[in-house]
Amino acid sequence: MMNVPLLDLREQNAKLRPEIEAALGRVLDTNAFILGDEVAALESELADYCDSRFAIGCASGSDALLLAMMAAGVGPGDEVITTPYSFFATVSSITRLGATPVLTDIDPDTYNLDAALAAEKITSRTKAVQPVHLFGQCAGMDVFLELFGERGIPVIEDAAQAIGAEDKERRAGSMGAIGCFSFYPSKNLGGMGDGGFITTNDEGLAEMLRALRVHGSKERYFHKWVGLNSRLDGFQGAVLRVKLPHLDAWSDLRKQNAERYRLLFAEKGLNEHVSAPNERPDGRHIYNQFVVRVAEDVRDRLRAFLAENGVGTDIYYPVPLHLQECFAFLGYSAGDLPEAERASRETLALPVYPELRTEQQEYVVDKIAEFFHGN
Ligand SMILES: *Cc1c(COP(=O)(O)O)cnc(C)c1O
Repeated sequence: MMNVPLLDLREQNAKLRPEIEAALGRVLDTNAFILGDEVAALESELADYCDSRFAIGCASGSDALLLAMMAAGVGPGDEVITTPYSFFATVSSITRLGATPVLTDIDPDTYNLDAALAAEKITSRTKAVQPVHLFGQCAGMDVFLELFGERGIPVIEDAAQAIGAEDKERRAGSMGAIGCFSFYPSKNLGGMGDGGFITTNDEGLAEMLRALRVHGSKERYFHKWVGLNSRLDGFQGAVLRVKLPHLDAWSDLRKQNAERYRLLFAEKGLNEHVSAPNERPDGRHIYNQFVVRVAEDVRDRLRAFLAENGVGTDIYYPVPLHLQECFAFLGYSAGDLPEAERASRETLALPVYPELRTEQQEYVVDKIAEFFHGN
């Protein structure tokens, strides 16, 4: 039996180990453990990479979203339109501020928030809209910018899974008012612990975000706002600067792996059973996850069969956010957002990380074929 984990970072880290150790040593030597020169240098490299004027490091992707909502002035009585088919923090960043998330169904082809449905939910209380570039593919931003941005409603991009992804040659995080990113180790650019950052082209917002991450103070001990303690550590900054120059190559390898899955599915006659992800035209998908769709009555059995055969998979996301216990007070019921609910019953993420070997991928597809066709 071959072992194919969903994600394996050991090879990537082993190759970079001497550089990572040297970078950590620089932080030890300077004692710049919170923010500091490494983080400042990383922020400027990230701003370049994301085609944004400013990049601001913070403690996690979840905090990036919370800080973005705070900077957009989201508070009690406000509504933010977003997707139920995402990671928890997409919606908790709204409810934590006492605002109401208005959850709207997804486009089943891309799993991203459906812009036209979202626009139907605009009211006088709509303070922002938050599309998520899910699995590494940008939501079609022109429609969001037209339906929301041009009406004065800021578009906040949850780009936690989409660093370097593009929509018509525009980078994720550079199109809306604010972009939010995560360095959680499973993202395409992962740290060695928690971390995140925020992008914006607006100088005033950048200044406010820089203050909000240090308890709302521009000058120490003078507080203009009630912010958070949410800074990026020097160690994370140093490690991420070693990794950033490799990010494009890693994302390209993920894309190659995605292409290979498509070929192998066709070769093995699996296209009637397994739907590979759809790519939008004029985009760059960075395949943070390679998520397939299968019939709902086989998904869990397929997952168990793959696990028995050493293949790691995961379900993003088994319970859509409108049906989470903690959001019961929002008053949604099963059946309200049918595409998100169907996606949560039909999708399965397969290994797609850059170091995945061709033999491993062939093995994964052989096992899927064995499941559907028998030996
Ligand atoms: C990972 C992720 C986050 C949160 O990032 P953390 O760094 O884990 O807090 C937010 N939104 C989405 C879509 C994510 O995938």
